[in-house]
Amino acid sequence: MRWSFKIARVAGIDVRVHATFLLLLGGIAYIYGVHSGIRGAFYAVMGTVLVFLCVLLHEFGHALAAKAYGISTADISLLPIGGVARMERMPEKPLQELVVALAGPLVNVIILLALGVVLAFSGGVNLESVSDPEGPDLLTMLLVANLIMLLFNLIPAFPLDGGRVLRALLATKMPYARATRIAASIGQGLAFAIGTFAAFKGLLLLGLIAIFIYIGAENESAFVQMRLASSGFPVSSAMMTRFNTLDHHSTLDQAVDALLGTSQRQFPVLDDNGGMAGLLTKHNLLLGLRRFGPGTLVTEVMVRGLPSLLPHTNLERAFTVLQQSGSQALPVVDQTGRLIGLFTAENVSEFFLVQNALARPDRRSAP
Ligand code: ZN
Repeated sequence: MRWSFKIARVAGIDVRVHATFLLLLGGIAYIYGVHSGIRGAFYAVMGTVLVFLCVLLHEFGHALAAKAYGISTADISLLPIGGVARMERMPEKPLQELVVALAGPLVNVIILLALGVVLAFSGGVNLESVSDPEGPDLLTMLLVANLIMLLFNLIPAFPLDGGRVLRALLATKMPYARATRIAASIGQGLAFAIGTFAAFKGLLLLGLIAIFIYIGAENESAFVQMRLASSGFPVSSAMMTRFNTLDHHSTLDQAVDALLGTSQRQFPVLDDNGGMAGLLTKHNLLLGLRRFGPGTLVTEVMVRGLPSLLPHTNLERAFTVLQQSGSQALPVVDQTGRLIGLFTAENVSEFFLVQNALARPDRRSAP
């Protein structure tokens, strides 16, 4: 993720903090500082850091459970909206997904129990003090925060843990894709209800959360269907085979001609031996034109070092590589390294459309 900084590495997983999270801390310190002085600012920042420590532990719950099934996690990022664990994949066995999805909320339950014990021995829960800006009872505040985190995450809607729990439970009784569709629909129904409620009550944050859940459910459903439709097919079945290339001596001016003459948006740049030197995207081209002018060589602004795909690579795997590369297109090369195709996200979705049309129940001869 761009604009995020690594702050630690625990159990082989990088812990990263996004710049906007630091901005959030700064904002909180400022607002509380103005209203209740240094003391207020200290407690507000301290409280926020402690809550996000719980978010981090929650994400580690997911990551460590996934690790038990051999699934690695690249990193965990803290954002103002919460934590994101970048797992290599989600387990598809329903029982494993259930365990991974529940491991996060389970961490909150453990924290709640620990806080309960500590509070029981230290004067009990003091709810009034939570809203006292000059010296809130941090332990009670953490108790409330963990309870909200637990209940919120168990809402049965993607991308929340509850949505995954629901899918995993459904998937024990039906195919994975159908379970995902049903879980996503329930999630969207809930998001719609929450959004309507938020609109009537004028609750902006809750409204944003509803939109976030709605989009998350949509994405998950689309992603799973795309993945299932593409598994079992090789890259060569969906790659672009007719496309224009640029020579590494070409200038941006010549690239503009190529751009205007075709519907292509990415151009492989070839070296003297016909090997792939880099990829020029429409975005790079326009940016380069504005910064350096039309006489600039394409090699100055092209993207280098992209991973290449082999034609027999599984489409599902290729799609993951494409997503992780952050590029809009990847080169497909044969054994000798010669460029034979271009693999783009549009290819995958077009391929998916065709597969979907072929698999329509009304097209099948047998019921
Ligand atoms: Zn979670």
